[in-house]
Amino acid sequence: MTYYITTSRPYTNATPHLGTILDPVYADVYARFNRLLGQQVFFLMGTDEHSSKIADEAIKQWISPQEFVNTKYQEFKQVFDLLELSSDNFMQSSDAKHKWLANLAWEKLSAKNLIYKKQYQGLYCKGCEDFYSASQLVDGRCPTHPNLEIQNVEEENYFFKLTAFHDSILDYLRRVRVNDPSIINSLKNFCADLQDISISRDVSRQKTQWGVVVDSDPQHSMYVWFEALLTYLSPLVPDELYETWIDSTPDIQKAVELEAWQIISENTPQNLQVIGTDNSKFHLVILPAILFGLDIEPIESIIIHGMINDAGGRKFAKSLGNGVSFDELYNKLGAEGVRFFVLFYCNSIGDTNYDEAKLLEMYNSNLGNKLGNLVMRLTTLISNFNDGDLDIEAAKDAYEDNQVLRLETETIYRELQSLRPEYGLRAWFDEVSKINKYLEDTKPWTLMKDKQANSKEITKILHIAIFGLLTLVEPLSLFLPATSELVDNYLRCDKIVKATPLFERL
Ligand SMILES: [Zn+2]
Repeated sequence: MTYYITTSRPYTNATPHLGTILDPVYADVYARFNRLLGQQVFFLMGTDEHSSKIADEAIKQWISPQEFVNTKYQEFKQVFDLLELSSDNFMQSSDAKHKWLANLAWEKLSAKNLIYKKQYQGLYCKGCEDFYSASQLVDGRCPTHPNLEIQNVEEENYFFKLTAFHDSILDYLRRVRVNDPSIINSLKNFCADLQDISISRDVSRQKTQWGVVVDSDPQHSMYVWFEALLTYLSPLVPDELYETWIDSTPDIQKAVELEAWQIISENTPQNLQVIGTDNSKFHLVILPAILFGLDIEPIESIIIHGMINDAGGRKFAKSLGNGVSFDELYNKLGAEGVRFFVLFYCNSIGDTNYDEAKLLEMYNSNLGNKLGNLVMRLTTLISNFNDGDLDIEAAKDAYEDNQVLRLETETIYRELQSLRPEYGLRAWFDEVSKINKYLEDTKPWTLMKDKQANSKEITKILHIAIFGLLTLVEPLSLFLPATSELVDNYLRCDKIVKATPLFERL
């Protein structure tokens, strides 16, 4: 059975910012963790490309929306590559196979009378691409997009019968595993007033035709979030199967479609999803209902993280000029520093305030002092002591026989299993502190003043400390893969040489 992980998809209308990297970095830790546990993993990421804002932006730049999203796709991919994310697939929602699968899903739901057409009038926020009731607005404006005019939209739309799944959704909310149970309570309240939801727009009302057109009624295109939620299914269908469908007669196409649903059902439920709080209604209420309608099991576990605000707790906003771009952080901290920011500094529950001074202090004290200095100290000691020779088997025996330094990697894994990635890395640094304390207590540098007389004792201490640190290399590889490899290279070699600083002081 493959362990299937995915992240929500960034809208490709803006450039990557700090919030963009939370999902993928958290998900990457779990992809690496499950591979370490011996699981086959499918880690899916991708971009969400069909919003009308994207079309508007493309037109402003005199290029087609497709050209626009292709360029943006590369921009996001570059950022994710810099962070060494181990994703298996990074798909575009404008992909032809996805549009095909979205239409198959539409047909399947229509055949079960879960999609119907009706006249609709509502208050619409272009930023959210979602309707609001008057009471949800603040001063007549969207709470997330106070700068955009709310539009009064009237049109004939297709609706998804969300209300048919009221009880199943509540049942799902009781059993889904999440890191933040307070979100579940707010969603249960939302379900008290559940309504069927509009899932299409009349294409003639759109300035630019951009989106997944409903094959059975080309006058309509699917709402971007509706088809975007189906991007978790389409990559499960092999490309060859889709290509066979294109080249086939209608009766063979029917057989191919059945096979596609069979494959999707065999590769679900999705085991883990990572989203922000702003996406929780879509992933914990609407998506499970769509999946129930398609006879597919909903997601098992979901990490719902908060947003990143400025040091004073205010939302990042263009008008306030308080935003921090990915490039800014990356240029300061490098890839491993950015991963450290997400996995140590940020909270996976609730919002995080970005306080640069506090972040740099954490960076220096943990990466620079606790870890960097330890590696320097150990490699310096052993290269001064016996020219860097290390008998790794003897080190292993000394570590296993000792009663003083006991490291517990299980705590780190337990924290990960409870869907708290940052507690995992913080627990990892607690283990590193134990090695530092062991060295402070045994003071091998003092014993080095008389190497000959203290030779046995020094060997024992260095063996215990070095092997202790080596046991932490594997759990570190889940969080900071490049650093983990570097530490391993320094310690697991025939001749240990004095390490250069792993992290420069900032
Ligand atoms: Zn909005």
